[in-house]
Amino acid sequence: MNEKKNPVYSNTDTSAVKMSEEEWKKILPQDVYYIARMKGTERPWTSKFETLKDKGTYYCAACGNALFQSDTKFESGCGWPSFYEPISKTSVIYTPDNTHGMKRTEVQCGRCEAHLGHVFDDGPPPTGLRYCINGVVLDFEKAKEIEKKFNEKPKEN
Ligand SMILES: [Zn+2]
Repeated sequence: MNEKKNPVYSNTDTSAVKMSEEEWKKILPQDVYYIARMKGTERPWTSKFETLKDKGTYYCAACGNALFQSDTKFESGCGWPSFYEPISKTSVIYTPDNTHGMKRTEVQCGRCEAHLGHVFDDGPPPTGLRYCINGVVLDFEKAKEIEKKFNEKPKEN
């Protein structure tokens, strides 16, 4: 993992991040910069998160903003990590994207406006949405052991 210094990275600070592209270029690893700021797309089936089933939280790799929970992740077969719902209404923002001759809706980080991927309306219940997200711009933190125990069904004595 690239350990460049990123002064805005935080899992708790939700205040908006405004930085010039020059500054982003300095602090982000090249692959993250390409997708987050240049709106690139990673090759399908290349993200280690695509098949990951661990319980935990997915954060924006550019700023640390919490984006998705593992329990809203599903196997879409599209080649990119897919979720049916973001963590909160403000965790992502939506922008019409009419590039490449398609009408799509771009999904960006609600804190730093990093390009994350697109959302489509062919997802599973309960939302019917499919957030198709580039794994490169996601950081994953596994749920802590104590939380896992808390979520386990209580044993009946
Ligand atoms: Zn972000």
